[in-house]
Amino acid sequence: MPVTRNVAWDGRLESFKGRDATHYVTTAAAIATTCAVCRRPLQPDEPLSLSVDIIESTAPDGTEYVTFVDYVCHRQCSEPGLTVRRAPWKPADLTPLAARMLLTQQPDPGNPGIVVPVLAYTLVPVVAFREHDGELTSALVSILLSHGFQLAMNPDYTDVLDQATEVAGSCSLTVTGGNLVTLNIDGETVYAEQLDPAEPDDAEWLEQATGEGSVLVIGGDNLVITETVLDVDAAASLGTLVIGKVTVRF
Ligand SMILES: [Zn+2]
Repeated sequence: MPVTRNVAWDGRLESFKGRDATHYVTTAAAIATTCAVCRRPLQPDEPLSLSVDIIESTAPDGTEYVTFVDYVCHRQCSEPGLTVRRAPWKPADLTPLAARMLLTQQPDPGNPGIVVPVLAYTLVPVVAFREHDGELTSALVSILLSHGFQLAMNPDYTDVLDQATEVAGSCSLTVTGGNLVTLNIDGETVYAEQLDPAEPDDAEWLEQATGEGSVLVIGGDNLVITETVLDVDAAASLGTLVIGKVTVRF
């Protein structure tokens, strides 16, 4: 049973993650805040176990997909584990998670800066597909890169703002008269959210997005998005953070 730092894991994970296995283990543990078994908080450096459920499925076009769902718990609550099963391919099982915010881009000190509307977007669980050489590649990251998004290796928002460029026209963000915001790729809606202009946060984001004409989309795998938290550090360190400016259509 390999142990990386304070986290024990199942050695069979290496046959899926290769050299990335230890990085994956430490990142999963860093993201987790509560034990998946007893639900009590996880303390830094206490002995932990990582369990991973892997689901393999074949899409209608023959592509082999691999889905990873991981659980972190106290080692006293559970030993590390790994399960692998096959299941029919069901893209609808993926849940989009998103967060909106406004960032200020300041080209130089003293400049009041430009307010940039941001949509952070991820899908859970993480889905990868198997390349011809057997390597696993993130499905969402690969789709976004093929539409002109760029990999962001640095999670710092100042760098993200400086680096982001316009993506391809096949990717757009639409705001309807009824304030329904949708993110669309190749004509398919991958995320939709009904905003309420009576809510000050929604109103300001809408005003900036429609005024600016584009929204910075920060996407990819392993983004931590909850009601109160947006954390892109793990995504950047795992090489699964992508960014791009998406045109707003009305
Ligand atoms: Zn526990």
